[in-house]
Amino acid sequence: MTDFTRTRALFDLPEGVVYLDGNSLGPLPKGVAERVARTVREEWGAMLIRGWNDAEWIGLPEKVGNRIAKLIGAPKGTVTVGDSTSVNLFKVLTAALSVAGTRCVVLSDNGNFPNDLYVAQEAVRALGMGYELKVVAPEAVEGVIDDTVAVLMLTEVDYRTGRLHDMKALTAKAHKAGAITIWDLCHSAGALPIDLHGADADFAVGCGYKYLNGGPGAPAFVYCKAEWTERAAPALAGWMGHAEPFAFDLRYLPGDGISRMRVGTPPILSMAALDAALDVWDGVDMNSVRARSLELSECFIREVEGRCPRLELASPREAARRGSQVSFRFKHGFETMQALIAAGVIGDFRAPDIMRFGFTPLYLGLDDVLAAVDRLEDVMKRRLWEEPVYAVRAKVT
Ligand SMILES: *Cc1c(COP(=O)(O)O)cnc(C)c1O
Repeated sequence: MTDFTRTRALFDLPEGVVYLDGNSLGPLPKGVAERVARTVREEWGAMLIRGWNDAEWIGLPEKVGNRIAKLIGAPKGTVTVGDSTSVNLFKVLTAALSVAGTRCVVLSDNGNFPNDLYVAQEAVRALGMGYELKVVAPEAVEGVIDDTVAVLMLTEVDYRTGRLHDMKALTAKAHKAGAITIWDLCHSAGALPIDLHGADADFAVGCGYKYLNGGPGAPAFVYCKAEWTERAAPALAGWMGHAEPFAFDLRYLPGDGISRMRVGTPPILSMAALDAALDVWDGVDMNSVRARSLELSECFIREVEGRCPRLELASPREAARRGSQVSFRFKHGFETMQALIAAGVIGDFRAPDIMRFGFTPLYLGLDDVLAAVDRLEDVMKRRLWEEPVYAVRAKVT
């Protein structure tokens, strides 16, 4: 069991705001500001370059990786942290293709975050050698896994609808067909129980700034099954992934284990923020997070459907088929979300018509869900989406 009253007290949330966007940018855990300040003053400021050894900056990617490993069912030593999810995806995709033999197809689905398809499109183009990206509908994936597929590259939770892929079953199916799997866990890590080891997943990547609350642009994580780490060769190499970075050898010789997934110098200030943010997970059981998240989202769906008839559920109705977010479709979704944010309930909007709400039990309770629906109902009843002020689009939606 997890004490959610205790975890809620670990976050610094602005008074009066109901934050339903922790799936996009996690809020600030209380210990982070102090830790970053300490890293700046006592480490960078006082130790100068000695911090790499004396404050053990050099080991932070693996230290933080091992903490994230516990949240995603990965064995110790199989996860490292650094770069963005996009860059890590490039690394694991090219690493997977390096051990995939003569097959050429990278299979993904059109519910994937377009970013991941951009990375894959350009990776297969750059590698040449006949590789191709094949994109099908999410429901069709299972049926087209055959012996042409080199790599199955999927995002477990759909960023728009929250639809959940069955990681274990699809991984098993891919393995049976002789394919390697890559899972993007951006909307899964910290949202639901994940068992990479149990599912026998080959590679995975995910975000530090969504449910893990590491701060804007926090470094991302990368997982590589032990079996592959000594063989797979990512097409992006740098000195931090070298077996002996300070030998300054002119040849690239990849390091042991997961360290070869590192490239350049780790961003220590962001890494310190993520490390401190991970403290909130101490003593948290992911099964209770999942149970609570479904309780919150079921309540939200029931209340919104009962009180806001214009909004149409875009997420799977069946709780077991959803991640930790709920989306509703509405033609004026953008303007409505702006009006809702002005009323103190922060969610977000995804084109063309999706209003997205994330449920994060560490700092949200049923009282917040009910307060959010009250304000949403008010926005809908007063047709606030018609106000011109809410039609103004900024760069980030
Ligand atoms: C958020 C997200 C990303 C983000 O990638 P960045 O490199 O951090 O911009 C990638 N993939 C998915 C599925 C995401 O949800």
